[in-house]
Amino acid sequence: MTHDVLQIVTEKPQQYKFTPGQATEVAINKKDWLNEKRPFTFTSLPNNDYLEFTIKTYPSHEGVTNELSKLKKDEELILHEVFGAISYKGEGVFIAGGAGVTPFISIFRYLQSKKETGNNRLIFANKTKEDIILAQEFENILGNNFINILSDEQVNGYAHGLITEEFLKPHLKNSIKYVYVCGPPPMMEAIEKQLKNLNVDEKQIIKEEI
Ligand SMILES: Cc1cc2nc3c(=O)[nH]c(=O)nc-3n(C[C@H](O)[C@H](O)[C@H](O)COP(=O)(O)OP(=O)(O)OC[C@H]3O[C@@H](n4cnc5c(N)ncnc54)[C@H](O)[C@@H]3O)c2cc1C
Repeated sequence: MTHDVLQIVTEKPQQYKFTPGQATEVAINKKDWLNEKRPFTFTSLPNNDYLEFTIKTYPSHEGVTNELSKLKKDEELILHEVFGAISYKGEGVFIAGGAGVTPFISIFRYLQSKKETGNNRLIFANKTKEDIILAQEFENILGNNFINILSDEQVNGYAHGLITEEFLKPHLKNSIKYVYVCGPPPMMEAIEKQLKNLNVDEKQIIKEEI
């Protein structure tokens, strides 16, 4: 999907159920890899007859994502129980960093399928333009409510830098009911602090670290 993001489409076990935003632990069904379980979020819709994952790979070390990038057709994954802290509660602002966008992929696809994208807004933080997962699809679903910010690259039409309180403020009008946040731990810590300073109540925040 990008220079380091894989899309994996696989068979859906019978009776396997999840809601948009949920994840499972995945292991590769190969000797030496069976006990190496890693959490990944479903990016397909619950009523699709297949499962899809969107996976950022770390080829610099021999972990599971590197091994997943070498998988061939018909090789198997072992899936475990479904879990996850993020689910759609109602309209709001979604803030994602890198692969932290994965729970929001399924949620936005779900809302689009019901024609209920409404005034939901996605703020997507990445290092460079090349790192943006599903840019075209988010653009189609959200139009002007798809906002990008790039930390390591200056590109015309894209905000530059890290997310700050000043950057968030215009997106957090009083009428905003929910703020959904998903990203790596340092980003989560910073955003939660900023939201607190901007008087967003903790009860309004739906979050998960990736
Ligand atoms: C609930 C949940 C849902 C998630 N959903 C998704 C998803 O849908 N898509 C997705 O892409 N990710 C998702 N993640 C993150 C994903 O689980 C991790 O990226 C994955 O487990 C990494 O596995 P790994 O074996 O390749 O790396 P690990 O070996 O587990 O390493 C994890 C991290 O440490 C760093 N690291 C460790 N050792 C080294 C080394 N020697 N050299 C360089 N770097 C190193 C890597 O940068 C990596 O970020 C999710 C996480 C959670 C908690």
